[in-house]
Amino acid sequence: MIETKDLKKIYGDHVVLNGINETIQKGEKVVVVGPSGSGKSTFLRCLNLLEMPTSGEVWFEGNNITDPKCDINKLRQKMGMVFQQFNLFPHLSVKENITLAPIKLLGMKKEEADKKAIELLTRIGLQDKADAYPNQLSGGQKQRIAIIRALAMNPDVMLFDEPTSALDPEMVGEVLELMKELADAGMTMVVVTHEMGFAREVATRVMFIDEGQVKEQNTPEEFFRNPQNPRLKDFLSKVL
Ligand code: ATP
Ligand code: MG
Repeated sequence: MIETKDLKKIYGDHVVLNGINETIQKGEKVVVVGPSGSGKSTFLRCLNLLEMPTSGEVWFEGNNITDPKCDINKLRQKMGMVFQQFNLFPHLSVKENITLAPIKLLGMKKEEADKKAIELLTRIGLQDKADAYPNQLSGGQKQRIAIIRALAMNPDVMLFDEPTSALDPEMVGEVLELMKELADAGMTMVVVTHEMGFAREVATRVMFIDEGQVKEQNTPEEFFRNPQNPRLKDFLSKVL
Protein backbone atom coordinates (compact mmCIF):
# COMPACT_ATOMS: atom_id res chain seq x y z
CA MET A 1 0.00 0.00 0.00
CA ILE A 2 2.84 2.41 0.92
CA GLU A 3 6.39 1.98 -0.23
CA THR A 4 9.39 4.23 0.29
CA LYS A 5 12.46 3.94 -1.89
CA ASP A 6 15.71 5.34 -0.53
CA LEU A 7 13.80 8.13 1.19
CA LYS A 8 16.00 11.00 2.32
CA LYS A 9 15.23 14.28 4.02
CA ILE A 10 18.01 16.77 4.55
CA TYR A 11 17.74 20.19 6.16
CA GLY A 12 20.84 22.21 5.33
CA ASP A 13 23.61 19.79 6.23
CA HIS A 14 21.46 17.88 8.73
CA VAL A 15 20.51 14.46 7.37
CA VAL A 16 17.22 13.70 9.09
CA LEU A 17 16.16 10.67 7.05
CA ASN A 18 19.03 8.72 5.64
CA GLY A 19 17.67 6.25 3.11
CA ILE A 20 14.49 4.51 4.24
CA ASN A 21 13.27 1.55 2.19
CA GLU A 22 10.05 0.25 3.67
CA THR A 23 6.84 -1.34 2.51
CA ILE A 24 3.67 -1.12 4.53
CA GLN A 25 1.05 -3.63 3.46
CA LYS A 26 -2.69 -3.21 3.64
CA GLY A 27 -3.95 -4.14 7.10
CA GLU A 28 -0.58 -3.75 8.82
CA LYS A 29 -0.29 -1.82 12.06
CA VAL A 30 3.23 -0.46 12.18
CA VAL A 31 4.32 1.18 15.41
CA VAL A 32 7.34 3.46 15.06
CA VAL A 33 9.54 4.13 18.07
CA GLY A 34 12.90 5.81 18.57
CA PRO A 35 14.72 8.59 20.39
CA SER A 36 13.66 12.21 20.19
CA GLY A 37 14.96 13.85 17.03
CA SER A 38 15.57 10.52 15.28
CA GLY A 39 13.25 11.39 12.38
CA LYS A 40 10.00 9.60 13.30
CA SER A 41 7.71 12.56 12.61
CA THR A 42 9.62 13.45 9.48
CA PHE A 43 9.22 9.88 8.22
CA LEU A 44 5.47 9.94 8.87
CA ARG A 45 5.08 13.36 7.27
CA CYS A 46 6.97 12.24 4.20
CA LEU A 47 4.50 9.37 3.72
CA ASN A 48 1.74 11.82 2.83
CA LEU A 49 4.09 14.54 1.58
CA LEU A 50 3.39 17.00 4.37
CA GLU A 51 7.17 17.13 4.05
CA MET A 52 8.67 16.88 0.60
CA PRO A 53 11.51 14.34 0.64
CA THR A 54 14.88 15.65 -0.50
CA SER A 55 15.33 12.52 -2.59
CA GLY A 56 13.87 9.08 -3.01
CA GLU A 57 10.31 8.05 -3.78
CA VAL A 58 7.08 7.41 -1.95
CA TRP A 59 4.54 5.12 -3.58
CA PHE A 60 0.95 4.92 -2.42
CA GLU A 61 -1.52 2.46 -3.88
CA GLY A 62 0.54 2.06 -7.02
CA ASN A 63 1.20 5.77 -7.58
CA ASN A 64 4.53 7.50 -7.24
CA ILE A 65 3.30 10.43 -5.17
CA THR A 66 6.73 12.10 -5.23
CA ASP A 67 6.34 12.47 -8.99
CA PRO A 68 5.44 16.14 -9.60
CA LYS A 69 2.82 15.01 -12.13
CA CYS A 70 0.92 13.15 -9.43
CA ASP A 71 -2.31 14.65 -8.05
CA ILE A 72 -1.26 14.50 -4.42
CA ASN A 73 -4.40 16.19 -3.09
CA LYS A 74 -6.61 13.40 -4.36
CA LEU A 75 -4.37 10.69 -2.91
CA ARG A 76 -3.78 12.49 0.35
CA GLN A 77 -7.51 12.28 1.02
CA LYS A 78 -7.00 8.54 1.37
CA MET A 79 -4.44 9.06 4.13
CA GLY A 80 -5.85 10.23 7.44
CA MET A 81 -3.49 11.93 9.84
CA VAL A 82 -3.77 12.59 13.56
CA PHE A 83 -1.32 14.83 15.37
CA GLN A 84 -0.21 15.28 18.93
CA GLN A 85 -1.97 18.65 19.05
CA PHE A 86 -5.50 17.87 18.01
CA ASN A 87 -5.68 20.56 15.31
CA LEU A 88 -9.46 20.95 15.47
CA PHE A 89 -10.72 24.23 14.05
CA PRO A 90 -11.62 26.26 17.17
CA HIS A 91 -14.25 28.39 15.44
CA LEU A 92 -16.18 25.40 14.09
CA SER A 93 -18.50 23.12 16.03
CA VAL A 94 -17.61 19.48 16.43
CA LYS A 95 -20.01 18.51 13.66
CA GLU A 96 -18.65 21.21 11.35
CA ASN A 97 -15.11 20.03 12.04
CA ILE A 98 -16.09 16.54 10.96
CA THR A 99 -18.12 17.49 7.90
CA LEU A 100 -15.86 20.20 6.47
CA ALA A 101 -13.55 17.99 4.43
CA PRO A 102 -16.20 15.51 3.21
CA ILE A 103 -18.31 18.43 1.94
CA LYS A 104 -15.44 20.51 0.51
CA LEU A 105 -13.20 17.79 -0.83
CA LEU A 106 -15.51 14.88 -1.55
CA GLY A 107 -18.48 16.99 -2.59
CA MET A 108 -20.71 15.22 -0.11
CA LYS A 109 -24.17 16.73 0.48
CA LYS A 110 -24.47 18.46 3.84
CA GLU A 111 -27.30 16.16 5.01
CA GLU A 112 -25.28 13.09 4.18
CA ALA A 113 -22.13 14.47 5.81
CA ASP A 114 -24.12 15.41 8.93
CA LYS A 115 -25.62 11.94 9.11
CA LYS A 116 -22.21 10.35 8.86
CA ALA A 117 -20.79 12.74 11.47
CA ILE A 118 -23.54 11.78 13.91
CA GLU A 119 -22.93 8.08 13.21
CA LEU A 120 -19.24 8.51 13.94
CA LEU A 121 -19.92 10.56 17.07
CA THR A 122 -22.36 7.92 18.27
CA ARG A 123 -19.71 5.29 17.76
CA ILE A 124 -17.49 7.07 20.30
CA GLY A 125 -20.37 8.05 22.60
CA LEU A 126 -20.08 11.78 21.92
CA GLN A 127 -23.24 12.37 19.88
CA ASP A 128 -24.37 14.96 22.45
CA LYS A 129 -21.25 17.05 21.64
CA ALA A 130 -22.14 17.60 17.97
CA ASP A 131 -22.88 21.29 18.48
CA ALA A 132 -20.18 21.94 21.07
CA TYR A 133 -16.98 23.82 20.25
CA PRO A 134 -13.51 22.33 20.75
CA ASN A 135 -12.74 24.51 23.78
CA GLN A 136 -15.70 22.90 25.57
CA LEU A 137 -14.15 19.43 25.30
CA SER A 138 -11.56 17.50 27.27
CA GLY A 139 -8.27 16.60 25.61
CA GLY A 140 -9.33 12.98 25.21
CA GLN A 141 -12.61 14.01 23.61
CA LYS A 142 -10.81 16.38 21.24
CA GLN A 143 -8.39 13.72 20.15
CA ARG A 144 -11.12 11.12 19.61
CA ILE A 145 -12.99 13.67 17.51
CA ALA A 146 -9.81 14.39 15.54
CA ILE A 147 -9.64 10.65 14.84
CA ILE A 148 -13.22 10.31 13.65
CA ARG A 149 -12.83 13.50 11.64
CA ALA A 150 -10.08 11.73 9.72
CA LEU A 151 -12.28 8.63 9.43
CA ALA A 152 -15.08 10.70 7.89
CA MET A 153 -12.96 10.83 4.72
CA ASN A 154 -12.93 7.02 4.49
CA PRO A 155 -9.14 6.81 4.44
CA ASP A 156 -7.27 3.68 3.40
CA VAL A 157 -4.54 4.31 5.95
CA MET A 158 -4.29 6.28 9.17
CA LEU A 159 -1.07 7.98 10.27
CA PHE A 160 -0.76 8.90 13.94
CA ASP A 161 2.03 11.09 15.33
CA GLU A 162 2.16 10.71 19.11
CA PRO A 163 -1.61 11.00 19.44
CA THR A 164 -1.59 10.63 23.23
CA SER A 165 1.52 12.63 24.16
CA ALA A 166 -0.33 15.88 24.84
CA LEU A 167 -3.03 14.25 26.95
CA ASP A 168 -3.47 14.13 30.69
CA PRO A 169 -2.72 10.56 31.81
CA GLU A 170 -6.34 9.75 32.58
CA MET A 171 -7.34 10.55 28.97
CA VAL A 172 -4.76 8.35 27.29
CA GLY A 173 -6.73 5.13 27.67
CA GLU A 174 -9.85 6.27 25.84
CA VAL A 175 -7.80 7.38 22.83
CA LEU A 176 -5.76 4.18 22.71
CA GLU A 177 -8.99 2.20 23.03
CA LEU A 178 -10.45 3.91 19.95
CA MET A 179 -7.22 3.27 18.04
CA LYS A 180 -7.40 -0.38 19.07
CA GLU A 181 -10.94 -0.60 17.74
CA LEU A 182 -9.77 0.83 14.43
CA ALA A 183 -6.97 -1.71 14.31
CA ASP A 184 -9.40 -4.55 15.03
CA ALA A 185 -11.66 -3.28 12.25
CA GLY A 186 -8.78 -3.84 9.82
CA MET A 187 -7.48 -0.31 9.31
CA THR A 188 -3.94 0.05 8.01
CA MET A 189 -2.09 2.14 10.57
CA VAL A 190 1.30 3.74 11.09
CA VAL A 191 1.63 4.99 14.64
CA VAL A 192 4.49 6.93 16.23
CA THR A 193 4.05 6.51 19.96
CA HIS A 194 5.81 6.02 23.26
CA GLU A 195 3.00 3.74 24.45
CA MET A 196 4.84 0.45 24.54
CA GLY A 197 1.78 -1.39 25.84
CA PHE A 198 -0.09 -0.35 22.72
CA ALA A 199 2.84 -1.48 20.58
CA ARG A 200 2.87 -4.90 22.23
CA GLU A 201 -0.85 -5.37 22.00
CA VAL A 202 -1.77 -3.85 18.65
CA ALA A 203 1.29 -3.68 16.38
CA THR A 204 1.88 -6.27 13.72
CA ARG A 205 5.39 -4.81 13.46
CA VAL A 206 7.45 -2.47 15.60
CA MET A 207 10.03 -0.32 13.85
CA PHE A 208 12.99 1.36 15.57
CA ILE A 209 14.14 4.55 13.86
CA ASP A 210 17.45 5.99 15.00
CA GLU A 211 19.53 8.67 13.31
CA GLY A 212 17.22 8.73 10.32
CA GLN A 213 17.39 5.02 9.59
CA VAL A 214 15.33 1.97 10.41
CA LYS A 215 17.85 0.17 12.59
CA GLU A 216 15.67 -2.77 13.59
CA GLN A 217 12.12 -4.03 13.22
CA ASN A 218 10.26 -7.11 14.25
CA THR A 219 7.04 -8.54 15.59
CA PRO A 220 6.30 -6.99 18.98
CA GLU A 221 7.13 -10.26 20.74
CA GLU A 222 10.62 -10.46 19.28
CA PHE A 223 11.20 -6.73 19.26
CA PHE A 224 10.76 -6.42 23.01
CA ARG A 225 12.06 -9.84 24.05
CA ASN A 226 15.09 -10.08 21.87
CA PRO A 227 16.40 -6.72 20.62
CA GLN A 228 19.68 -6.94 18.72
CA ASN A 229 20.85 -3.40 17.98
CA PRO A 230 22.74 -1.91 20.96
CA ARG A 231 21.00 1.44 20.47
CA LEU A 232 17.63 -0.31 20.61
CA LYS A 233 18.64 -2.20 23.75
CA ASP A 234 19.65 1.09 25.31
CA PHE A 235 16.42 2.76 24.15
CA LEU A 236 14.25 -0.03 25.53
CA SER A 237 16.07 0.00 28.85
CA LYS A 238 14.99 3.63 29.20
CA VAL A 239 11.37 3.36 28.11
CA LEU A 240 10.26 0.01 29.51
P1 ATP B 1 10.38 13.58 18.66
O1 ATP B 1 10.37 12.22 19.33
O2 ATP B 1 11.00 14.60 19.57
O3 ATP B 1 9.04 13.97 18.14
P2 ATP B 1 11.20 12.86 15.98
O4 ATP B 1 11.85 11.53 15.96
O5 ATP B 1 9.79 12.95 15.58
O6 ATP B 1 11.41 13.48 17.43
P3 ATP B 1 11.65 14.76 13.88
O7 ATP B 1 10.61 15.72 14.32
O8 ATP B 1 11.35 13.93 12.69
O9 ATP B 1 12.10 13.82 15.09
O10 ATP B 1 12.96 15.61 13.65
C1 ATP B 1 14.18 15.01 13.27
C2 ATP B 1 15.23 16.08 13.18
O11 ATP B 1 14.93 16.96 12.11
C3 ATP B 1 15.37 16.94 14.42
O12 ATP B 1 16.73 17.13 14.69
C4 ATP B 1 14.72 18.24 14.02
O13 ATP B 1 15.32 19.31 14.68
C5 ATP B 1 14.97 18.29 12.54
N1 ATP B 1 13.91 19.02 11.82
C6 ATP B 1 12.61 18.67 11.74
N2 ATP B 1 11.91 19.56 11.02
C7 ATP B 1 12.79 20.50 10.62
C8 ATP B 1 12.69 21.69 9.83
N3 ATP B 1 11.53 22.09 9.30
N4 ATP B 1 13.83 22.40 9.64
C9 ATP B 1 15.00 22.01 10.16
N5 ATP B 1 15.17 20.90 10.90
C10 ATP B 1 14.09 20.15 11.13
MG1 MG C 1 8.07 13.63 16.49
